[in-house]
Amino acid sequence: MKRLALVITIGLLALVAATAQSRRPAGTTHTGKAFRFNQVKPGIYHAVGTGSLAVVGNSSFIVNDDDVIVVDDHVSPAAAWVLLEEIKTVTNKPVRTVINTHFHFDHAHGNQIFDPTVQIIGHEFTRRMLLSNSIGMPLYQNYLTGMPAQIEGLKKQIASATDGAAKAKLQTQLQVTENNLASQKELKPTPPNITLTNQLTLFRGGREIQIRFLGRGHTAGDVVVYLPNEKVVMTGDFLTAALSNMSDSFPNEWADSLDALKKLDFDTVLPGHGEAFTDKAKIDYFQAYIRDVWTEVSRLKKQGVSAEEASKRADLTKHKDHLPIQGPGVPLIGVQRIYSLLDEKP
Ligand SMILES: [Zn+2]
Repeated sequence: MKRLALVITIGLLALVAATAQSRRPAGTTHTGKAFRFNQVKPGIYHAVGTGSLAVVGNSSFIVNDDDVIVVDDHVSPAAAWVLLEEIKTVTNKPVRTVINTHFHFDHAHGNQIFDPTVQIIGHEFTRRMLLSNSIGMPLYQNYLTGMPAQIEGLKKQIASATDGAAKAKLQTQLQVTENNLASQKELKPTPPNITLTNQLTLFRGGREIQIRFLGRGHTAGDVVVYLPNEKVVMTGDFLTAALSNMSDSFPNEWADSLDALKKLDFDTVLPGHGEAFTDKAKIDYFQAYIRDVWTEVSRLKKQGVSAEEASKRADLTKHKDHLPIQGPGVPLIGVQRIYSLLDEKP
């Protein structure tokens, strides 16, 4: 009898824990749809934010015979929650699997809203980073600590706005930022509960879903999600529609890792930022850019130029026809990364 009582108590505790996990997070209020779903192949969607809620990175989702797989879950518990709500307008099948392409805040900070029975898959490095102090790193800290000033600035602009439409737009931006900050306050970085180092393949009915590590690049543990039958690849920030953040990157290895991506047979790319695309030349453009960033910044360092100065001077304007480059300069966080990699070299 005692044992039965214990089993029931444990069962109830598990239920309470699961319920707590699925409580609606703060900051989910928004007007209109938060996502635009772009169905690139039957059952394969790219989810891009509309601006009514802070989501930052893109996600993708795959509707299978019996379940749904989500790739990346955005910048906050609120954004992931709303994604799940909007997925319900497409299918009532349950999300049983989440894949993190990498550990960065705009791709993995929704992990905590999932029930513990949901499989969250990522590279071993992604797990390690989400278990360590990834939110103490400058990339996220700069983002988070900038928010209160952003809110104050928007309030001032609203107070002095005279045009009705402009004022309404600013008010939306304010609501979006305040909601994001409210959700960040509830953040509990949650690591993948299934990891891989090289490749893991899921089979769902007729679908084959390969999760592949192709070498270091954007981080030490980015994975791509490759559907060989549908010829679709989800690339996170390993390959975006434009430029990627370099804060944790290996710019001297990235282009070679992208060569491994080129060997896969696909016709559609769903990137972590920007729209889905089919033009594979974008890979060549980014490879050329990243190789030149490494060469140019290394050259400046060798001349004794400070990272701050190199960030202004590094000239990559020859890539401006294919990438959003207005003038000389490379983001400081990327230059600092290259400087520290060069310092590490024996
Ligand atoms: Zn990103």
